[in-house]
Order: sequence, then structure tokens, then C-alpha cells
Amino acid sequence: MSEASLSQPLGVFGGTFDPVHFGHLRLAEAAADSLGLAAVRWIPAGSPVLREAPHVDAKQRLEMVRLAIAANSRFELDSSEIEAAQPSYTVPTLERLRQPEECGAQRPLVLLVGADAFSGLTSWHRWESLLDLAHIAVAHRPSYPVEADSLPAPLSSLFRQRYCANTAELTASPGGRIACFSMTQLDISATRIRHLLSTGESARYLLPDAVISYIQNHHFYLEN
Ligand code: ATP
Repeated sequence: MSEASLSQPLGVFGGTFDPVHFGHLRLAEAAADSLGLAAVRWIPAGSPVLREAPHVDAKQRLEMVRLAIAANSRFELDSSEIEAAQPSYTVPTLERLRQPEECGAQRPLVLLVGADAFSGLTSWHRWESLLDLAHIAVAHRPSYPVEADSLPAPLSSLFRQRYCANTAELTASPGGRIACFSMTQLDISATRIRHLLSTGESARYLLPDAVISYIQNHHFYLEN
């Protein structure tokens, strides 16, 4: 990667990816284009704390993401949360990315979240520190409006204070702002895909064929 692109914003995209699907891929692609990101770093969660245990082992969810993003030169894979022994929390992950041997203190980092994940932000571990470390960019997701009035009180006031309508502002500082971006609305969820697979229905065209083959070869998601 060139010197110039190492100072451009880096997207940071975490998730359970159980399994990864076209909603995730489209979110990352739309973010890279509309926010001017040099790259998007995908960070699958090892042991997510705020939800039920994943249905598939961490290393295999990592492998599914590897297959899904392989053809996209703007996408990078980060296995640090999968390899860590501790539960996965975003603030320590961002603190690691801020180390000099990673991105350092100055490079803009943009944490990418869907609108549903954003509305639950106040339940995240040390959530108040997120904007000290990165910007947050929220992707619209079907059925989840992003409006200050519909957010929980502490998040609503933060949203009003930190919102920037012009996403070019994300390149002007290492973090601290909240932006929204639009993406082609895809009403796809991993929950729905797991349900389809558990009932023997096809999940084709909801996720990449290479990921479907991997799922079939390993007999994943046969039970709900
Ligand atoms: P599940 O159905 O198991 O809860 P999911 O499909 O929501 O999973 P996650 O791995 O939990 O997938 O999501 C990772 C991130 O991707 C979250 O920020 C989530 O909001 C976002 N996301 C997932 N699917 C979509 C979609 N179809 N459109 C926009 N954002 C999405």
C-alpha cells in the first residue's frame, strides 16, 4: 500500500459473520466508496459478548469471511479478535489499531456499523470511549431508522453533538464524528440464512457461492 493511502481513512468492520452475507459485503463496499476509505478491515468477533454464542466455530467464521472478501483488493482480514483468548470488545480492538505498529494515533479510523448495531451502542463495553478512538459511520438497514429521536437518550444527545452531514469531514481528524451513509438496502440477515439452511431451503443469492460451498462441505447450520 502507498504512503498516501496509509494516511487515508481505514474502515473497521466487526461482526459475528455467522455466516457472512451480501448485506455485509455491500455495506463494506458502499462505505469504501462513499466515505473515501483506503481499505476496510474486517474483524470477525471471537466470542461476542452481547449475543448468543455463534453457531459456527470462530476459525471457520474467519475462513468464511476470507472466502467472501478474497476477490476485493480494498478488503483486509484481521484475525486478532478470533485469536485472542478474551471476549471480543471493540474499544480494546481500536486501542490496538491505534498502536504505532498498526495505524498510529493520526490516521482516521471509521468504525462501520449497521443501523441496528448503532442503536444498541450504549450496551457496548466502554462505549463512551469509542469516539476518542475512531469515527462511527452508520449504514442504513431496512426497518432500522437512524434518527436522533428514536435513539436511547445518551446516544441521542451524542448523535446530535457529533453528527456530520458532510462525510468529507471524516478525513480531517482521526476520530470523533458520527456520519451516516446509504447503501443498496438488502433485507438479508445471518439469522434468516441460518433458518433457511436449517429447513433445507436454498440460501443462494443471499451470500457468495464459495461460502455456501464451505457451509455445505462442513454441514453447518443444519439445526436452528
Ligand atoms: P444475525 O442475524 O445473526 O444477528 P447479522 O446478519 O445482523 O447477524 P452481524 O454479523 O451481526 O450480522 O452484523 C455485523 C454488522 O453488519 C452489524 O453492524 C450489522 O448491523 C451489519 N449488517 C448485517 N446485515 C446487514 C444488512 N443486511 N444491511 C446493513 N447492515 C447489515
